[in-house]
Amino acid sequence: MSNFLASVNQNFDKAAIHTGLPKGLLEQIKICNSVYQIHFPIKVGNEYKVIEAYRVQHSHHRLPTKGGIRFSQKVNQDEVMALATLMTYKCAIVDVPFGGAKGGVKISPREYTPAQLQKITRRYTAELIRKNFIGPGIDVPAPDYGTGAREMAWILDTYMQFKGGEIDAAGCVTGKPVTQHGIRGRSEATGRGVYYGVREAVSYKDDMKKLGLTTGLEGKTVAIQGLGNVGYHSASIFQKEGGAKIISVAEYEGAIYSEDGIDIDALMKHRKETGSIMDFPGAQNMDQRKKVLEVECDILIPAALENQIRNDNVDRVKAKIIAEAANGPVTAEAAEKLIKRGVMIIPDMYINAGGVTVSYFEWLKNLSHMRFGRMEKRFNHNTYMNLVNLVERLTGKTIGAKEREFLTKGADEVDLVRSGLEETMITAYQEIREIKKRKKKVEDLRTAAFISALNKISSDYLALGIFP
Ligand code: NAD
Repeated sequence: MSNFLASVNQNFDKAAIHTGLPKGLLEQIKICNSVYQIHFPIKVGNEYKVIEAYRVQHSHHRLPTKGGIRFSQKVNQDEVMALATLMTYKCAIVDVPFGGAKGGVKISPREYTPAQLQKITRRYTAELIRKNFIGPGIDVPAPDYGTGAREMAWILDTYMQFKGGEIDAAGCVTGKPVTQHGIRGRSEATGRGVYYGVREAVSYKDDMKKLGLTTGLEGKTVAIQGLGNVGYHSASIFQKEGGAKIISVAEYEGAIYSEDGIDIDALMKHRKETGSIMDFPGAQNMDQRKKVLEVECDILIPAALENQIRNDNVDRVKAKIIAEAANGPVTAEAAEKLIKRGVMIIPDMYINAGGVTVSYFEWLKNLSHMRFGRMEKRFNHNTYMNLVNLVERLTGKTIGAKEREFLTKGADEVDLVRSGLEETMITAYQEIREIKKRKKKVEDLRTAAFISALNKISSDYLALGIFP
């Protein structure tokens, strides 16, 4: 059993002392509101397997609650509670009006066929419906480790079978395929959010000077653990849009290193063809996959699971910045040591909030029953065309076709989603950084992020007059 929840709560306590909030209120914010544990049987071949599963709603201060569903052999109650808890703070930090939740199914997806996984997902959903633990205004799941758009489509379809007449049924889950009421830009959202967040963090001269770094992402060396949804999109966008150099990557089967940089798309193609990231041309195999965490680099992005940087390996971690793309990759004790060494940790509950942010956009799209951009795209295009025509007429010069296309484009759904995500990540970082600057005794971004979350959540309770 991990002590992930204890680690999250240790960080909470560290921040709470800076808020001056009443003890009872802090206790109410900290505690998990509902924990639902389920066991159900599934027929696999000629055998029945009893599946253990959870849904935890950490906070009902805002509804619906929101959080992913994890499929992993390591799922346990402590882990799901910790992840649900992080979701509450995450939503508050990025101003997404939801309480936190999380689901977990204790299975290794690799050991099941797609048909069996479908059966498990549908049964799990039926159990949630039975107990009123899912619905567009109740609790809205999304993908997490081991799940993706396919599982979300199964959840939606099951929900529709039970609640076909509900006008807003499509909003019962997010991270769905675009063809099944999903939104463009959701699958890349967490990775893209990591990119926007780190890009913002490295843009401050004072902060970079303390780390002995220059500003900007261009040329910065990056190591990434896990090339799943979050890790792959982070790596790809850091490389293509940020100009960063990915020098080390780890996956389930091992880790590789190349001083000259690893082309992520070529690596994914290599993995598809050979079944492994190992023996990638131009890179060297590392003897253990966990060594990726110890590579000398500017930015380390753990994007696999929790409890990766601990007391037993923290002294060997050499990165100057750690962007916690995964939830809880650095234990509270290890974080203390890193902070003392001056390492910048960009905390999970901020840096991986891109997923829930775009999930929020998807949910809004489902409730509005309309694609973003549908109303204004042509109007804006025509207005920009009139402006460009006017400029041409007044200057007597002609604007080239490519430039004209660029200047007159009305925003598509994906443009608006990316713009909303970029705005969210930049604003939230500035809020956190400002708190850290203002409170002299706060030495790390995680504590500042917690304070930001606690201020926002407490104002909801204080407005009710429950805690005078
Ligand atoms: P995923 O299942 O798509 O990918 C995780 C990858 O990590 C897999 O490819 C797996 O093989 C690899 N992995 C597992 N253990 C490893 C190890 N020891 N070394 C190297 N690679 C390893 O999962 P994901 O959705 O990308 O989630 C990853 C993390 O990000 C989790 O902590 C999750 O809670 C968090 N997260 C995910 C989202 C999201 O939108 N999917 C949002 C916020 C946070």
